[in-house]
Amino acid sequence: MSNIVQIHGEPIEPLEYNGQRVITFEMIDRVHGRPDGTASRNFRTHKDKFINGEDYYQIQVDEIRRAGLPIKANNYGITLLTESGYLMVCKSLTDDRSWEVQRSLVKTYFRAKELVEATQDHNLWVKQMMERLAIIGESHEKKIDGLCQEISTVGEKVDTFSYTFDERLNGIETLLNSGRKSFHAKLKERGGTVCIEHFSSKCPCCGDTLLFHNGVKTKFLNYDHWNEKPQDNRATNFWVICSQCNQDFKNGKLNRAEQRYKFNFFQERLRKLDPASKQKELFKVKN
Ligand SMILES: [Zn+2]
Repeated sequence: MSNIVQIHGEPIEPLEYNGQRVITFEMIDRVHGRPDGTASRNFRTHKDKFINGEDYYQIQVDEIRRAGLPIKANNYGITLLTESGYLMVCKSLTDDRSWEVQRSLVKTYFRAKELVEATQDHNLWVKQMMERLAIIGESHEKKIDGLCQEISTVGEKVDTFSYTFDERLNGIETLLNSGRKSFHAKLKERGGTVCIEHFSSKCPCCGDTLLFHNGVKTKFLNYDHWNEKPQDNRATNFWVICSQCNQDFKNGKLNRAEQRYKFNFFQERLRKLDPASKQKELFKVKN
């Protein structure tokens, strides 16, 4: 408690008793620049108007010691004035200095403790608010964690679903492709017609092996998937060749790029196949 307060140039050490600021006669005389005994005389003159415990405290030496007050007292103890008691003592002090000192003492001395307490209250409030905010923040974090967890679970479910979906799609594709394992019968018929009409019934690839004999297919006839994808049964992927050529494509003896012009020639004939000759039905494929 060494927060020295300057009142009108006089340093005074704050005194606190019973939870409030108090002042002694000696302090009053000093800050008001009055002869010793002025304040105490004023007090004694109107003592019947002062209320003990409200305007002043009359305390003994042992009580001074117990309260830890930094003051000296004689055997009669000491009188401590509260703010109201001080103002009553000052009633007769009406010179300019007294008015100034009174205002200063009330504002910076007696009310200072309240300010400190208010600040402490405010700090306590801020601390409590911070604690509450921390708790709220924590619970929000927990909620966010929970949401993240849920989102991740949903994400996993979506992954699982799309995986299953892909699997099913693959299954459907396989099913669709397996639905037609070979070229359409009509396409095979037209291919045979092209072979008979434009390739003298011989293999359009090697130009040697007979694929038809008297319009009937021989055992050498093969229906080839040009792009080597057996599920691609489009007409543009189709031609007829002999089993040897088919074998040679598979084992690499024949290069498709080198034979491409032959395939193209066959395709051209296939596209331009005279609808009339189609009707001739030069040969029939038995499925
Ligand atoms: Zn051939």
